[in-house]
Amino acid sequence: MSKKGFLLCVCQGTCPSFQEMNIFEVGNALRREELIDYVAVHPQLCASDGDIFLETLLEGDSTAELYVAACDPLMQAKMFRDAMEKAGFNKDNLYGVDIRNMTTEQAVAAITELISSEK
Ligand code: SF4
Repeated sequence: MSKKGFLLCVCQGTCPSFQEMNIFEVGNALRREELIDYVAVHPQLCASDGDIFLETLLEGDSTAELYVAACDPLMQAKMFRDAMEKAGFNKDNLYGVDIRNMTTEQAVAAITELISSEK
């Protein structure tokens, strides 16, 4: 069965854009609703170790869906492209959402809407 994964990326935790939310509570809210199969927080997915993380996570699971709450979704698609290709992951199964400058409640609502719309 294909897995639905959820990643939060927060610009190392130092960017003001992510200071209004509790990132762990965002993940917990999605877990409580059982909207996804797993949750992880990465400090900087667009760095080289972020590529390694994505390759390792996605390798061999071409039917998986990955939801990423972070910065602009178009930028995400570009920044994660090489890692997805190396992992053999279908880039059409990457669903990004921009949660910058949101509160915890706003971020949970935006992510929930994205996941629900792709069901
Ligand atoms: S992927 Fe986006 S949110 Fe994550 S560190 Fe890079 S710019 Fe920041």
